Amino acid sequence: MLIRNATLPDGRSGIDLLVQQGRFAAIGAALPAPPGAEVVDAGGWLLSPPFVDAHFHMDSTLSHGLPRVNASGTLLEGIALWGELKPLLTQQAIVERALAYCDWAVARGLLAIRSHVDVCDERLLAVEALLHVKKTVAPYLDLQLVAFPQDGLLRSPGALTKLRRALDLGVDVVGGIPHFERTMSEGAESVRILCELAAERGLPVDMHCDESDDPLSRHVETLAFQTQRLGLQGRVTGSHLTSMHSMDNYYVSKLIPLIAEAQLQVVANPLINITLQGRHDGYPRRRGMTRVPELLAAGVNVGFGHDCVMDPWYALGSADMLEVAAMGLHVAQMTGAEGLRACFDAVTVNNARILGLDGYGLEPGRRASFVLLQARSPAEAIRLRAPRLLVVRDGRVLARTAPHEVALFLPGRSAAVDFTHPTAQRLEGGR
Ligand SMILES: [Zn+2]
Repeated sequence: MLIRNATLPDGRSGIDLLVQQGRFAAIGAALPAPPGAEVVDAGGWLLSPPFVDAHFHMDSTLSHGLPRVNASGTLLEGIALWGELKPLLTQQAIVERALAYCDWAVARGLLAIRSHVDVCDERLLAVEALLHVKKTVAPYLDLQLVAFPQDGLLRSPGALTKLRRALDLGVDVVGGIPHFERTMSEGAESVRILCELAAERGLPVDMHCDESDDPLSRHVETLAFQTQRLGLQGRVTGSHLTSMHSMDNYYVSKLIPLIAEAQLQVVANPLINITLQGRHDGYPRRRGMTRVPELLAAGVNVGFGHDCVMDPWYALGSADMLEVAAMGLHVAQMTGAEGLRACFDAVTVNNARILGLDGYGLEPGRRASFVLLQARSPAEAIRLRAPRLLVVRDGRVLARTAPHEVALFLPGRSAAVDFTHPTAQRLEGGR
């Protein structure tokens, strides 16, 4: 396959990409077409590596309204509601909903997802269901699973045993939820136990950490400390870190360098953080998302996750990582050219690094996986939640969407409206 005339996220335009045996064989201007190659005209649209979601909950997705909706909208009512739903779950229902979500994901050019899976269930129903889903979707989507003790590693009886069983069954990453343990010291103890378990088994760590508006919730400090103590640098991710929003600035001036030193990676979940945090505030009401621009400035890799779609915590969503990027840039006020671009990276390359995806990116020799967007630049893709004209994985077309076109019927004029804008490319070009 030869893709002609694409614009790349770095601003280069008029680029051709040659795909051979599922990999990019060459990327450049005016490549000769090998005999018999299928030639695809990209029409100057933006060709990006696929979207990646670094934080999701696939065992609860598409369960919105079961058995009831979250009336207060808080994290804690969501957790209680999930507790009500758990005994009613069947493996088949989890599999069906997860597969439906993966279809949505592929249609949106989202080809790799890290999903937490609740292990606080004697039957490990969700674990078995999602391991089955992982195998089923493997030919078209990379699904990575995190063993997540939703009810607390120490707070929920037998959680550590169940978590170990989940890892034995093939779950890829060690999870945690220190802020949900009974005390700060139990939270710190859970971080130590889980990091030691990861070190012993050679696994990565990804914890829900300090998902709270409490400025004194400081488990990320412990997570950075244990990461360094056990030599886990680069393999540990702190998800949410929302308490950082409310922390004292002096303390944060010490904390961010510690996070950078431990090479912790960070996932913010903009749609969910802006929805769940600040619920106990009157006005002014805190946004609650972690300090994304400051972490990026310190050299920390920060990705954005979708976290929830139509579940006990969030009633909306459609597997659109551009929606996630859009919310992230609003909440973090990353509205300059650099900020817009950083938010596009947060749902593509940064998340790929968090998942440790092999062969990701637009380089010769890498996997020929990409999404063609009906936009001229990353910022325009975010602005328009651009249609995914073509979704390709390892050289194979997985999805096509017709270009978005609107016919206007205006008195005295006939015109088709075009939401793309020439300045988008000019302003971002040649960077
Ligand atoms: Zn989560």
